[in-house]
Amino acid sequence: MSQPLIIRSLRELRAQIWEWRGSGETIGYVPTMGALHEGHLSLIKISRQKASKTVASIYVNPAQFAPGEDFDSYPREEQSDIDKLTRAGCDLIYIPSSSLYANDHSTYIKVNGVGDGLETDHRPSFFEGVVLIVMKLLNRVAPDVAIFGEKDYQQLTIIRKMVRDMDIPVKIIGGPIARDAHGLALSSRNAYLDEDGLCTARQLNKILHRCARELAGELAGELAGSADIDESLTRAKADIIAAGFDSIDYLELVDSRSLAIITQTPFTKPARLLVVARYKGIRLLDNCAAG
Ligand code: AMP
Repeated sequence: MSQPLIIRSLRELRAQIWEWRGSGETIGYVPTMGALHEGHLSLIKISRQKASKTVASIYVNPAQFAPGEDFDSYPREEQSDIDKLTRAGCDLIYIPSSSLYANDHSTYIKVNGVGDGLETDHRPSFFEGVVLIVMKLLNRVAPDVAIFGEKDYQQLTIIRKMVRDMDIPVKIIGGPIARDAHGLALSSRNAYLDEDGLCTARQLNKILHRCARELAGELAGELAGSADIDESLTRAKADIIAAGFDSIDYLELVDSRSLAIITQTPFTKPARLLVVARYKGIRLLDNCAAG
């Protein structure tokens, strides 16, 4: 097992990327906020298949946390993250030693359309922070391909749009959602769940997938009236609350590319079912294809 380079300064990062480029290597990149799990590592695996060198970064981005959110308590596990990335075959780990934002930072990017609604209704400045850090990190690492998880489906869609709109020379690849043995989408924030919370959280993907199959018409005959989107969503929301969640930020059927909300059947495929539910203040995101 070879040791990855651990780089903390932009100057050294650029020098290394230049050296690799000079010798004909291609660069794959996986940005993370650390507290790594198999979901992150599955993206590293994709990067290693797509490029000859893989770079991961660990940076808890203050710009995407609103006041009162968990920026201070967000899990920080640098050494175990480095060990995991080493075992996963990462070639370079970029861990910026200081804030990536100058005190007088004043440039912001807004992605309209796919950036409106859904998450934005509940975390209004979240994507502004995400887009900013992704833009900065892509400029720093300058990879050929960058891999983002489908777990954060709206985020992935926004990043694809930004890259296209801003002519950033990188190919964006979406990695499938990694789940535990019960189907729960892996997330660094799952560590906040107590035992009951974990039981509740593990119901979410089951309710979601059942609703998606119902909407896709795969359960036709099994459930009368399954083609009614509103009815299906209402039933799934009741199941989510019955499973122990406190509230639901949203459960929506959307067009997979435009993220436009679909309310009527028949609908154009591919479509995606997106959900965010809260358990004791912990937001759990999940999504799946719905035909
Ligand atoms: P984060 O560290 O939460 O910012 O996530 C870094 C990257 O890992 C993002 O592209 C996420 O979408 C992705 N990711 C997080 N959880 C999963 C998962 N369960 N499966 C696949 N990708 C994931």
